[in-house]
Amino acid sequence: MTVGRILERKGYGLETVSPSTTIAAISHHLNDQGIGAVVIVDDSGRLKGIVSERDIVRALAAHGPSALDKPAHEIMTANVITATEDEPVDEIMRLMTESKFRHVPIARDGKLVGLVSIGDLVKHRITELEKETEAFRAYIRAA
Ligand code: AMP
Repeated sequence: MTVGRILERKGYGLETVSPSTTIAAISHHLNDQGIGAVVIVDDSGRLKGIVSERDIVRALAAHGPSALDKPAHEIMTANVITATEDEPVDEIMRLMTESKFRHVPIARDGKLVGLVSIGDLVKHRITELEKETEAFRAYIRAA
């Protein structure tokens, strides 16, 4: 199974904001959308970074409430690891585990087309395990 198939089921598209968006605005956005990270892009849609809940907690711990007025570019992770639709889900799960992050933007021909979270991948894995279990049960019943 590829991450492209996950996106087909979940839906393409991703939440992006500009580098000047404040942390307060990003916090509202994450809360409203029920998501854990936003991708930072410039006016031309070029990938500049990613801000996740983890970055916001880190900034609040370091600067207190004034962190909320800071722009995204001050706290974002600039070196974003992306993947392509043809990559296997297992590989992306391994990447997330080893690199200790839970979000991977997906690019096609250099353009961002979606984002998968660890939640999306775990959901897929649980569905797969349920199907396998049911197939084993059916096999045992037929024996
Ligand atoms: P997360 O577990 O996704 O909340 O992110 C943990 C840390 O990794 C935060 O500092 C994020 O900015 C960073 N991060 C999240 N996703 C990526 C990614 N795809 N590439 C690089 N850093 C990331």
